[in-house]
Amino acid sequence: MQCDLRAVSNDQFPFALMYFTGSKEHNVAIRSRALKHGWSLNEYGFSGENLPVVRDEADLYRALGLDFVPPELRENRGEIEAADEGTLPRLIEWENLRGTFHNHTTESDGRSTLDQMAEGARELGLQYLGISDHSKSSPQARGLDEERLAAQLESIAAWNREHGGPQFRLFAGSEVDILKDGSLDFDEALLARLDFAVASVHNVLNLDEDTMTRRIIRAMESPHITMLGHLTGRMLLRRDGYPVNHEKIIDCAAATRTVIELNCNPKRFDMDWRWWHRARDKGVLCSINPDAHSVNQLQFLKFGASVARKGWLRRQDVINTKPLAEIEAWLKLPKEKR
Ligand SMILES: [Zn+2]
Ligand SMILES: [Zn+2]
Repeated sequence: MQCDLRAVSNDQFPFALMYFTGSKEHNVAIRSRALKHGWSLNEYGFSGENLPVVRDEADLYRALGLDFVPPELRENRGEIEAADEGTLPRLIEWENLRGTFHNHTTESDGRSTLDQMAEGARELGLQYLGISDHSKSSPQARGLDEERLAAQLESIAAWNREHGGPQFRLFAGSEVDILKDGSLDFDEALLARLDFAVASVHNVLNLDEDTMTRRIIRAMESPHITMLGHLTGRMLLRRDGYPVNHEKIIDCAAATRTVIELNCNPKRFDMDWRWWHRARDKGVLCSINPDAHSVNQLQFLKFGASVARKGWLRRQDVINTKPLAEIEAWLKLPKEKR
């Protein structure tokens, strides 16, 4: 890995910090705003007449009549206008997360046991952990059939009786395969016994956009599907996602009150950060999920909070900021009341 080190004076530091933070698009827009004040701006400072005193980045934005723009939002995608109007959101922080859904154990393709995952979540300071192992149509991931899922439900209930309480509990779920026609891998009666269900596409990825979109929408219309897993199935640096119409999925999530996951496994980061602002404005709720396949991967939640910030998400847009008692009540609501 190559790394550049640049030493600048204290006076230059806020300018250099902002310049190298980027993005280029944001910097270009900020420079043209400076020009309207009669100043030119580069990575070392302002030049021109009547220069403002700038000690940090906040001073720099203030000099241009703007609220401080958090680095994650600097993309020239509306943040400068919002900073001008004083309407930048208060962004979510990692410390706001109280639990998480969509995690695997050794029952399917995870490498840590149920006990280890629960212990890891507790150590991370979480109040709840949702277990959602694969379903039977993912045999490559040792997906659970009806019998094994029913047995896991019992194990989770037993774990909660023995170790759970008002400070921590496990939620029993499933990462249910969305079959080719949009039906689900388990019947309604079994899904209804779960605390939550994540619906994901894992096979037959070569459908056209229209067919894939209809397939996913059919799954979201199920009253038992709490949330949609990794929307596009992309693997960053390895394979693009399958084509899917984001607008239609977002509209359907809003209409059916289906949560969309922000899968924060760094290989995925799916749904992509560029779509969250729109989803949020439509009232879609997010769940930041690590899709952890080992106890260490619960740490991905921290990346998830960063990506959620990049998507303009606030605490109230993300369901797993709810404390345990609140999320328990929320999960019991019928979808249309959520
Ligand atoms: Zn998956
Ligand atoms: Zn998964």
